[in-house]
Amino acid sequence: MERKNAWLSLTEEQRREMHALCEDYKTFLDNGKTERECVKETICRAEKAGYVNLEQVIADGRTLIPGDKVYAVCMGKAIALFHLGSEDMEKGMNILGAHIDSPRLDLKQNPLYEDNDQVLLDTHYYGGIKKYQWVALPLALHGVIAKKDGSVINISIGENSEDPVFCISDLLPHLGADQMGKKASVVIEGEDLNILVGSEPLVGEEKDSVKANILQILKDSYGMEEEDFLSAEIEVVPAGKARDMGFDRSMVLAYGQDDRICAYTSLMAQLDLEHTDTTAVCLLVDKEEIGSVGATGMHSRFFENTVAEILHAMGQYSELSVRRTLSHSRMISSDVSAAFDPNYASVSEKKNAAYFGRGLVFNKYTGSRGKSGSNDASAEYMASMRHIMDDAQVSWQTAELGKVDQGGGGTIAYISANYGMDVIDSGIAILSMHAPWEISCKVDIYEGYRGYLAFLKAHRS
Ligand code: MN
Ligand code: MN
Repeated sequence: MERKNAWLSLTEEQRREMHALCEDYKTFLDNGKTERECVKETICRAEKAGYVNLEQVIADGRTLIPGDKVYAVCMGKAIALFHLGSEDMEKGMNILGAHIDSPRLDLKQNPLYEDNDQVLLDTHYYGGIKKYQWVALPLALHGVIAKKDGSVINISIGENSEDPVFCISDLLPHLGADQMGKKASVVIEGEDLNILVGSEPLVGEEKDSVKANILQILKDSYGMEEEDFLSAEIEVVPAGKARDMGFDRSMVLAYGQDDRICAYTSLMAQLDLEHTDTTAVCLLVDKEEIGSVGATGMHSRFFENTVAEILHAMGQYSELSVRRTLSHSRMISSDVSAAFDPNYASVSEKKNAAYFGRGLVFNKYTGSRGKSGSNDASAEYMASMRHIMDDAQVSWQTAELGKVDQGGGGTIAYISANYGMDVIDSGIAILSMHAPWEISCKVDIYEGYRGYLAFLKAHRS
């Protein structure tokens, strides 16, 4: 049951392909540090690959036929791409699903205040973070400000070398005696994640003159008033680009690899698929980190409605055909695995841990405690994955998330499984999951891409 290190089985050509893929992966990460930016980047890549907007197809009253490629967007935060196969849709689709939201800090609705000549922005964290990791590092602001007149201003500050950055201060060790005695979960508290954004007063202003200066800058730069924060979505993320890591450059250090590492590899597999018998789908959703809720999360009807629209555009719509299409589909719910970490070996059970360099990870089940909240894939479906991966000579491994009763986690798998389709969790192993900077291994990214492509190509038997 030992799995070989995938680096050892790479041919020279594969090695070149892997490096090219990972260079492009870093660009994808840099261009998509929020779910909205990820959707934009995905649309850009999809249109280059011949995908058209489903809304346009509907508006034109065009009939979709096998071979057509379409995409549908939900509120700019989730996207589904369909490559229509030659087979009947009712026989089911091959679906790659991943999420494009990542843990971060969001600005509160009323965020801006001045305290003793410092101006700060108050935040509310999103997703499961270790709060102490978000202080004393350069931060960038990304997002939108929606104004009353209907216009929307895009913001990205802190990524270019000439941009300013932002930061949450931490207490100096000299005065940290009380702080250092606290539990790590409260050493930095949620309400203390305030971002320092200014210190220079506006000349001639009596009260809150530093805040007045910041408001003046915001007005000059973005034409915004303080009230416009009420209808803004501004995400605070680590500033800086994705980087190669290690003397051997074998790894990638970047923000948001959970789960854009699986979103990217799924998307590339979808876009690189040339001809397909079975309809291929890449579904990138939002809000996974907070329970897949809301209009743009996996629990919404977005995907089901889009399938109905596509069947309609093919002239094949009925309530029953939608249900059959969904229930006969099969899916890889692609999300990151926790890589074995020699620094924290005690949380893993070594026979069932994911390892760097050993390829795409399959998790028959996830969940916490007694598999609570898990989609437990069937033995038969797992067997078909073994068959597909081995046939395509993909390096792969199996794992669960840590030792029994150590903790756990979930994905979007159980939600699509509600349709009665076969779903299995599969993803790429990363270190420091949910930290501002996460680590992945390049060969695993490559094997992930190859595995997802093999899945899309696999004809349903
Ligand atoms: Mn995830
Ligand atoms: Mn996560």
